[in-house]
Amino acid sequence: MKTVHNFNAGPCVLPKVAIESAINAIRDFDGTGVGLLEISHRTAGWERIMAETEQLWKDLLKIPEGYRVLFLGGGASTQFCNVPMNLLNKKAAYLVTGVWAKKATKEAKNFGEVEVVASSEDKTFNYIPKGYTIPTDADYFHITTNNTIYGTEIHKDIDCPINLVADMSSDIMSRPVDVSKYALIYGGAQKNVGPAGVTFVIVREDVLGKVQRTLPTMIDYRTHFDAKDPRNNSMFNTPPVFSIFVMHETLKWVKDLGGLDVMYKMNLEKAALLYNEIDRNPMFIGTAEKEDRSLMNICFVMNKGHEDKEEAFMTFAKERGMVGIKGHRSVGGFRASTYNACPIESVKALVQCMQDFEKLKA
Ligand SMILES: *Cc1c(COP(=O)(O)O)cnc(C)c1O
Repeated sequence: MKTVHNFNAGPCVLPKVAIESAINAIRDFDGTGVGLLEISHRTAGWERIMAETEQLWKDLLKIPEGYRVLFLGGGASTQFCNVPMNLLNKKAAYLVTGVWAKKATKEAKNFGEVEVVASSEDKTFNYIPKGYTIPTDADYFHITTNNTIYGTEIHKDIDCPINLVADMSSDIMSRPVDVSKYALIYGGAQKNVGPAGVTFVIVREDVLGKVQRTLPTMIDYRTHFDAKDPRNNSMFNTPPVFSIFVMHETLKWVKDLGGLDVMYKMNLEKAALLYNEIDRNPMFIGTAEKEDRSLMNICFVMNKGHEDKEEAFMTFAKERGMVGIKGHRSVGGFRASTYNACPIESVKALVQCMQDFEKLKA
C-alpha cells in the first residue's frame, strides 16, 4: 500500500491497531465465531465491551462521581438541540468561536432566550474572545473548546459561575481535562476517539430533570442510563456497535500509551514542530492568533508575495503522500489536523515537504 500521511479533519486517521482489531472482530467477535456486526447487543461479550468502554472514559478523563457517560447516535449536531432541550429553561449563554458554535446557538434559540456573550466572527474566528462576562442568570454557558475549521482552541478549563457546557468534538482526549468544571461535555467520536456514528455525552446527573418542557423519551438523557441495571446504559435502543467497538480499541490504545498526560505531550510536540516551521518558513503564514493556536488543527496559508503558489504547493504535497491538507473553504490555504492518532513521522514529513518546496520555489 502507498505511504500516506493522513491529515484529514474528521473523519480522520485512527490508530492502526484499532483498525486491525475491528477487521478481526467483524469476522469473529470475541471468539464466538459470529461477526461483530451480526451479534445481538444483549450478549455477555458485548455487554463487557460497553462496560469497558464506559470505564475507559472514566479512567482516562478521571471523571468524578456523579457524572454519567453516554454513547448516543446523531452526531454532535444533534446535541446542539438536545442540550437546550434538557438544560434550558429560560436563558442560555453562548460563546461564538466558529461555525459549529453558531449552529449550536441557532438551535438553542428554538428553546429559550440566548445571549451571545462574545464572538470572534469579526476576524473570521481566528482568535478566542477574552474578557467577556458570563451572565449568572443563565441556565448554562456553552463553549466550543476546539474550533476545527479555524484552528483555535481554548487551552484551559475555564472557571464558570454557572453550568458549563462544552462541545469537545475535536479535542476530547487530546489533553487532561478537569471534568468537575463542566456540567456537560459532548462531541462526535470521529475526530479523536473513533469513527463516525457514535456521540459521547458526559453529564453531571444533578443538572438533569430541571426543565419544564416534556422531553421525548429518546431526547431525555435520563433515558440512557439505568441506576438499577448498568447493563442498560446507552442501550435503551440498539447502540452503534461498530463505532463503539472501534472507540473501545482506540481508547485502549490511548491507555496503553500512558493516558492523557502522554497524549498531551505528544500533541504538544507535533504541534510545535509544525508551527515552528510555519513561523520559520517565509513562504507560509499561520492564520490563528498565536496564543489561541489549536494543537489539533493547524491552519496556514501562503505568505504575502507567494499567494500564487498555493496550487503548486498542494500538488507538491500530494505527490509526497500528504492527504487532507486542504483548508476549509472559509479559511482557505491549508489545514493539517494532527489528532492523537496522527504519528509524529507524518508531521515531520509535512515539515520536510514545506522545506523542500521553499528550496525549489523561493
Ligand atoms: C465536527 C464537529 C461537529 C459536528 O459533528 P457531527 O458529529 O458531524 O455532527 C461539531 N462541533 C465540532 C467542534 C466539530 O469539530
